[in-house]
Amino acid sequence: MNVAAILKLKGREVFTTTPDTSLHDISKLLGLHGIGCIVITASDGKVVGIVSERDIVREIARAGATVLKEPVAKCMTTSVVSCRESDTIDRLMAEMTAHRFRHMPVVERGRLIGLVSIGDVVRMRIAEAEMEAAAMREYIATG
Ligand code: AMP
Repeated sequence: MNVAAILKLKGREVFTTTPDTSLHDISKLLGLHGIGCIVITASDGKVVGIVSERDIVREIARAGATVLKEPVAKCMTTSVVSCRESDTIDRLMAEMTAHRFRHMPVVERGRLIGLVSIGDVVRMRIAEAEMEAAAMREYIATG
């Protein structure tokens, strides 16, 4: 199973915004869409950062709630680790575990085409395990 299989199931919609968006507006977007992170893109659509609820909580703890007026550019992660459609789910799990993050943008030829979360990876793993168990039961019953 690979990233392409996950995108086929969940779709390719990614919530993005620009670096000048305030942390308050980012928080509203996270709440509105029920998501944990937003990819930050430049006007040409290139990924320039990623911000998650953790970044916002960290900034509020550091500087107080007035930080919500600041642009996301000040606290987003700029060294974004992305994946490709051909990457395996095992590879994604290894990357997410090694870097301790729960989201990976999918980028092909410099273009953002999807986003995979740890929830998507776990869901896929469970589906795989269920399919294997069903095949095994079928094999035992008919073998
Ligand atoms: P998360 O666990 O995804 O909520 O994010 C934890 C931290 O990792 C936050 O500082 C995020 O900005 C950062 N982060 C999340 N996803 C990525 C990614 N794909 N590449 C680089 N940093 C990330």
